[in-house]
Amino acid sequence: MIKFSDLKLDPKVLKAIEDAGYENPTPIQAGAIPPALEGRDVLGIAQTGTGKTASFTLPMITLLAKGRARARMPRSLVLCPTRELAAQVAENFDTYTKYHKLTKALLIGGVSFKEQDQLIDRGVDVLIATPGRLLDHFERGKLLLTGVQIMVVDEADRMLDMGFIPDIERIFSLTPFTRQTLFFSATMAPEIERITNTFLSAPERVEVARQSSASATITQGVVMFKGSRKDQEASEKRRLLRALIDNEGDKCRNAIIFCNRKTDVDIVAKSLTKYGYDAAPIHGDLEQSQRTRTLDGFRDGTLRFLVASDVAARGLDIPNVSHVFNFDVPSHAEDYVHRIGRTGRAGKLGTTIMLCTPRDDKNFADVERLLQTEIPRLANPLEGVITPASDDAAESGERSTSSRSRSSSSRSRGSRSRSGDKSAPKETTMSETVAADSPPSAPPEAAVAEAPRSEAAPRHDRSRDDRSREDRPREDRPREDRRNEPRADNRTDNRSDDRRDRTRGGQGRDQNRDNGPKVVGMGDHLPSFIALSFEERRTS
Ligand code: AMP
Repeated sequence: MIKFSDLKLDPKVLKAIEDAGYENPTPIQAGAIPPALEGRDVLGIAQTGTGKTASFTLPMITLLAKGRARARMPRSLVLCPTRELAAQVAENFDTYTKYHKLTKALLIGGVSFKEQDQLIDRGVDVLIATPGRLLDHFERGKLLLTGVQIMVVDEADRMLDMGFIPDIERIFSLTPFTRQTLFFSATMAPEIERITNTFLSAPERVEVARQSSASATITQGVVMFKGSRKDQEASEKRRLLRALIDNEGDKCRNAIIFCNRKTDVDIVAKSLTKYGYDAAPIHGDLEQSQRTRTLDGFRDGTLRFLVASDVAARGLDIPNVSHVFNFDVPSHAEDYVHRIGRTGRAGKLGTTIMLCTPRDDKNFADVERLLQTEIPRLANPLEGVITPASDDAAESGERSTSSRSRSSSSRSRGSRSRSGDKSAPKETTMSETVAADSPPSAPPEAAVAEAPRSEAAPRHDRSRDDRSREDRPREDRPREDRRNEPRADNRTDNRSDDRRDRTRGGQGRDQNRDNGPKVVGMGDHLPSFIALSFEERRTS
């Protein structure tokens, strides 16, 4: 078996690896590090969880160990699709550069330009950035990319999903032709293939097994669920989630709860908090400081339930997650594998439970087809408990007992304002919110989430996954997406812009989805009262 010491890495890097407790390189590391150290381009086809971050950070540190950075001219560049991934890569550099004097800067949205400018001005060896923020700095004349010797593109397929490919192409063109490129993607969509053919030079292709199967350390289950009444389904589903968590008892040390939409992330987190569960949301509409605080809390065990959207939690390396709940069946089957892969890591046991409504049948079938296995059906712990007539009474009765039984947990949450739940509305109000967000007659967002996906993105389409785009603040979105938006250079939070963007028509990988006939004369905004069905209203 290959050892790190066989890999010609800088002795100080080897010492840092030893301190981190690693002895043997993972397959992607063993395959990518030697050609990277020779200065060759590398095309790594590997997913998160395979150790791919170290497969580029370790040779980079070794190669950059000699030499000094000049002001505003970074010597290397790592591009990541999300702020969290960028921050994770930065942490990796911190771990492995502990015996070096290399400087780094993290350019992500949600942080003021001023601090980032100061770092760049001093000169950095490693610049880690999301594409949008990087180009913002470049356009402000604060950054030169002509000194980049090594460029890394991490999670290229996610960049494609998020519509970043034109930005990536532009960034490539701003760096020297002679740079070394280390390019990582979990899959090789035609658009990714094209980019690598254009910008990589005779790359060493290193491929590690694609993860289309769930780890054997994860126990899976699904609960088939149908609301007793359409207007009660959302609150009953949240109630089912609580019952499933309770059923797991102490085995559920902590959990990530995935929802397909940001609105549901907020609602589920608020609902759990209201019922005394220690929960907080994470998605792209939240301020960066809040996202960081929430993640830190979940990592260090002071927060038990992280309610997340795919993009916010994608690729995050959080050890010791005992449970993953899929509050929604993901609309892209491979997201299921990514989601449940947050548990059962590093040989530890994990449990995952999904809630599946009749509306999810098609997506659920896709998940089972991808896994090539049947996910065990679990009994619904609320079967027979919820009846249309008893819903409200059951909820209010449960509310009083459950909040009593969890009062200490509620107290321990104390001043946690992460979910902003100080004045949490009653459950009925929340279901009303849901109803208002998504009127019974085919809510636009839900329709997009449920529609089939077209795999191959045509060249130059902006390939935007609606959920992904929705999950990103302004600077972390592709340039074309925000061309007509006002600029506010020192803004740290761009949530309102993000929302505005959401009202535009989606394109990209999901563009074949049938969103109904285009409304002429109203722009993309459809007033919610027009979407209401009078039939539906009468019956409910
Ligand atoms: P990544 O795919 O880069 O997100 O890494 C996933 C996890 O693997 C992280 O927790 C790393 O710290 C860990 N890791 C990286 N390299 C090794 C290694 N050689 N042996 C064991 N674990 C590793």
